[in-house]
Amino acid sequence: MKIILLGAPGAGKGTQAEKMSEKLNIPAISTGFIIRQAIADKTEIGIMAKEYIDKGLLLPDEVVIKLLLERLEKDDCKNGYILDGFPRTIAQAEALVTNNIFIDKVVDIELADERIVERLSGRRECSECGKTYHVAYHKPSVDGKCDACGAPLKRRKDDEPETIKNRLAVYHKQTEPLKEYYIKKGLLVAVDSQEEVAKTTDKVFEAMGVKL
Ligand code: ADP
Ligand code: ZN
Repeated sequence: MKIILLGAPGAGKGTQAEKMSEKLNIPAISTGFIIRQAIADKTEIGIMAKEYIDKGLLLPDEVVIKLLLERLEKDDCKNGYILDGFPRTIAQAEALVTNNIFIDKVVDIELADERIVERLSGRRECSECGKTYHVAYHKPSVDGKCDACGAPLKRRKDDEPETIKNRLAVYHKQTEPLKEYYIKKGLLVAVDSQEEVAKTTDKVFEAMGVKL
C-alpha cells in the first residue's frame, strides 16, 4: 500500500506516519528527515538545503524529487510506504505520476492554524533518530530523552515562532492546493487531528477503511 500523509506542519503527520508504519509494517518516509540528515552530514545538497529549511521555505522541487526517488529505490520500499511531507507542491505530485508511482490513499490531517503554532513551539525532536515528541501532548517516558534510542531531544530551529509563521504561509500557498488535486482524483480522506495521538490514529484507519 502506498499512502500520502498531507497536512500543515505540526498537524501531526510525522507522529501518525510512525504509528501507521508500525501497524501496516511499511516504512514511513519523511523528506524533512532526509533533508535534515543531509544537513547534518554536510553533503552538497545539505549545505544548500540549510538556507531554505531554516527560513521555513520549501526546497526546489527537483532537489526533493531526486532525494525521494532515490529513497524509494531501497529494498524496504517494495511492499509500499507512507510518504510524510511529500508531495508538498503540485509539481511534486506530478513527479509521482510521471514516475509511475500509484498512490492508494491520501490522508489529510487537519488542524487550525492557532493550534499549530502551539503544537510546533512545544515540539521536540530526537537528535539521533528523528522521532518527535511534545512537551505537553506527547512526552517521552524519561524527560528530554528519546524513548526509542535514548538520545537527547531538542527543538528544531525551524520550530522558532517566526519561522513557524513562514511555514504556515508556505503551506497555505503551495501545499494546500494538493487537497483539491487529490479530491479530484478521488483519493483524499480528511481527519481532524485529535489531542490524543492514539485517537487520531484510530480516526485515520477508520477513514481509510482499514480494519486492524
Ligand atoms: P513539517 O511537516 O513539520 O514542516 P518536515 O520535516 O516535513 O516538517 O519539513 C521540514 C522542512 O523540510 C520544510 O519546511 C522544507 O523546508 C523541507 N521539506 C521537507 N519536505 C519537503 C518537500 N516535499 N518539498 C520541499 N521542501 C521540503
Ligand atoms: Zn531517538
